[in-house]
Amino acid sequence: MAPFYVPSSAMAIVAHPDDIEFSCAGTLARWAKNGAKISYIICTSGEVGIIQSGMTKEKAAQIRESEQRNAAEIAGACEVIFLRQPDGLLQPTLELRKMLVREIRRFRPEVVITGDPTIVWTGDEYINHPDHRAAATAALDATFPAAGQPNLFDELEQEGLTAHKPRKVYVTSWTKGDTFVNIDETIDVKIAALRAHKSQMKDWDPEPRIKEWASGRAKGIEALYAESYRVITLVNDENWEKTKGQVLFE
Ligand SMILES: [Zn+2]
Repeated sequence: MAPFYVPSSAMAIVAHPDDIEFSCAGTLARWAKNGAKISYIICTSGEVGIIQSGMTKEKAAQIRESEQRNAAEIAGACEVIFLRQPDGLLQPTLELRKMLVREIRRFRPEVVITGDPTIVWTGDEYINHPDHRAAATAALDATFPAAGQPNLFDELEQEGLTAHKPRKVYVTSWTKGDTFVNIDETIDVKIAALRAHKSQMKDWDPEPRIKEWASGRAKGIEALYAESYRVITLVNDENWEKTKGQVLFE
């Protein structure tokens, strides 16, 4: 049986409302079900993502934030933070890095989960959104070394936001994953959370496609459905499994 690791807390950092649901919501829902505290950090509010006559960016942001809050509730996340950076124009600036360090130091997650900043395109019909790469780059740069680096951001220290080193980083990986999380128990939660993004789904039923992707990632493990990651362990002392996360068996 494959070990199943459950962190005590995890923070997902992405660019847009619905990015978590497309990528890692099955894992986060499974962790939440097993007692993990889950935080969602959404860098933009997806305000250019509703094309409709009479729609303003302000209205679209409100709709998409509300959809994201519903999706987070379905998956069992305890908070959703919107950084309200410009949708479609996100850059991995030092300012964004500092905003993310602030969130990491406040929530103090055991695991940070984000996208893969090296994916520019996949196959012959998909170019990755530049916001996805920007959010992932900023998330990794904030996680290491900045969040755990004392004396780096004096103003954060003065606010009591002291250095914090996440133990692990899960990078969602479509094609190069080496860690596969069985999401058989939470595939329906993932699909329900995705459906909460009504402005994006419109008449599209996500179920067949999401199941097809998740079953493609379950090859090689005893599961029908999986999400795949590259996992980087930054802190690995002898007792961490006993004192922090727990390892369950599927
Ligand atoms: Zn996106």
